[in-house]
Amino acid sequence: MNEAAPVYIIGGGWSGLSAAIELCRKKIPVTVIEAAKQLGGKSRRIAFDGMPVDQSQLMMFGGYSNLLSIFRTLKIRENQDYERIPFDLVLRRKRKTKFRFRLYGLPAPYGVRAGLYLARGVPFQEKIRALRLIDGIHRNRIVLDEDISVSEFLMQQGQRDRVTRFFWRPLCRMFLHTEMNLASAQLFIQLVSWLFLSDPANGDVLLMRQDMSSIFSDRAMDYIEQKGGMIKLGHEVTALDINNDTITGVKTDDAKFDARHVILANAWDGVRRLLAPHTAAQPVLAKLDRLVFSKLTTVYVKYPSETALPMQIIHTMGALGHWVLDQRVQGKSGTMAVCFLVKPQLHLAPDDKICEEICAQLSASFPYWKAPLGYQVVHTPDAMLANTVRSASLLVAPSNIISGLWLAGDFVDTRLLPSVESAVCSARECARQISSQMGK
Ligand SMILES: Cc1cc2nc3c(=O)[nH]c(=O)nc-3n(C[C@H](O)[C@H](O)[C@H](O)COP(=O)(O)OP(=O)(O)OC[C@H]3O[C@@H](n4cnc5c(N)ncnc54)[C@H](O)[C@@H]3O)c2cc1C
Repeated sequence: MNEAAPVYIIGGGWSGLSAAIELCRKKIPVTVIEAAKQLGGKSRRIAFDGMPVDQSQLMMFGGYSNLLSIFRTLKIRENQDYERIPFDLVLRRKRKTKFRFRLYGLPAPYGVRAGLYLARGVPFQEKIRALRLIDGIHRNRIVLDEDISVSEFLMQQGQRDRVTRFFWRPLCRMFLHTEMNLASAQLFIQLVSWLFLSDPANGDVLLMRQDMSSIFSDRAMDYIEQKGGMIKLGHEVTALDINNDTITGVKTDDAKFDARHVILANAWDGVRRLLAPHTAAQPVLAKLDRLVFSKLTTVYVKYPSETALPMQIIHTMGALGHWVLDQRVQGKSGTMAVCFLVKPQLHLAPDDKICEEICAQLSASFPYWKAPLGYQVVHTPDAMLANTVRSASLLVAPSNIISGLWLAGDFVDTRLLPSVESAVCSARECARQISSQMGK
């Protein structure tokens, strides 16, 4: 058995790299095997018109404490590498701002109360109903015996019309990445508690000053290699060696490695493929098979460099284009990233039609903008776990299926809302348990 590399990590996205960083920090040698030619997973770097941009535009929040802990290890610093802006929900349709809600940095629940009282675009009566609902959650008065959809829950709670369309729906899309008729009310209650009723900084949006690979993956690679870890790019793990319910090694196309511990951080579909031949993993596979994923599409649109949003992020109301992020914070003035959830079963139009629609929507909102200079559309079919009704019960434990085999990713149960934060959290948990088994 190869004593030099007791831990193999399959996948070099957020989960795999976070696990590797944590293990290296504890002086445990690791080898990361990544099938692609570059690190970063779903948020790897791609080129748009000669500029580095992220394959997927992640929204990072101040309450992502696991992610911020990894940032501290890599010396990724606030104000130098990223900016923090308060949560500000701006809804725009055509030329008008239809709704604006700011979360004030006051102790809970005063931040959200002030935000809703001062919000523009919703009648006073509806604000009061929304505040009553938040208050009920704050006082733990709202308990659901059985999970239902967010739409149903909001109807039951007397939330109607504009407050639902302008406030609850964008929150559901932005944080649960799921439409209200499918999203889980239990997770929605968890979201409201986390966002509005705990640390006032939870909802701060973290804006990166460069593309994510420059901020995270490149530095993670340097850190892991400096600490003696190895990274193998362009090697796909094709099989796991499991004997007597214990992991003994991994196989790639051209090599076989002995291993004492293996972390599967290769996203839901990759994990599924590797576990499929192993009987001991059937209970996990049964859960993974029932998970539902949201499709997300990002459209990068380039305008002349003087083009700017009135604020960093806005939400648009229309057929496509749920939120728009101005890339000027990354020094890419004039470039907008437009992200939208693709409804299940919806057959998307060809890329040029999507872009036409997005640009028409943007020019209706900002008629003084000049014509766009170029665009790029990036589709991700299995972008994120959809937080559907009862999906929380399908999340899997990080370990326990096969001795020495660990799972990291946003499909792992961490008691957090599935997100990049939960993926990092599950990776840290794998690293913690492995290091404790090794007495480190
Ligand atoms: C468009 C989009 C928008 C998103 N927005 C948000 C957001 O706003 N907020 C948020 O919290 N999250 C968001 N996410 C989700 C977030 O990106 C994921 O939670 C996170 O990237 C998961 O990281 P991961 O490392 O677990 O998986 P991945 O990033 O999928 O990485 C898995 C890696 O494993 C590699 N791999 C697969 N199989 C093998 C194999 N057999 N051998 C070797 N390597 C293999 C893959 O190449 C990949 O690099 C978004 C995702 C997308 C696509």
